[in-house]
Amino acid sequence: MSGIGVCAQIAAKDPERADRMWGMVLGEDGEYSLDRPARAMGRQLCDQCPLRVDCLSRALVSPVRDNTIIGGLSYEERTILARRVAKAFDTASRRIHKLSQPAVRDWLAGHPEIIICAKDARHQMWRQKKQRREPVSAQGTLF
Ligand code: SF4
Repeated sequence: MSGIGVCAQIAAKDPERADRMWGMVLGEDGEYSLDRPARAMGRQLCDQCPLRVDCLSRALVSPVRDNTIIGGLSYEERTILARRVAKAFDTASRRIHKLSQPAVRDWLAGHPEIIICAKDARHQMWRQKKQRREPVSAQGTLF
């Protein structure tokens, strides 16, 4: 799919704002941090972006572990989504990079509810860990 993502349109006009919405912010102290309200806005814009399934499928088959929001999902949420996609393709999530990106894109386009489920599952895991008073960390390493 061609076109320009919403994030790229905003980055072209206001790169710092785009960093806040989809990435991290470099503070005056030299440390990076997350601007959570801005990221929430970025997630909402991803939900409406016409490139979303293309964007997400590329992130799944060419995975990078980082703190960015891609296709409206955090790294942990993309990890959960990758497991579900891999299962649908009858492969292991660590081998998801072997899948064809167009095939993953087309599958995601036909199963938009899976993207929402990945977000919900991440939230549920976080809540359960808090209830069990376990430390909350990344849910394993996929990539
Ligand atoms: S779906 Fe992808 S291309 Fe679109 S705004 Fe979100 S990160 Fe950018």
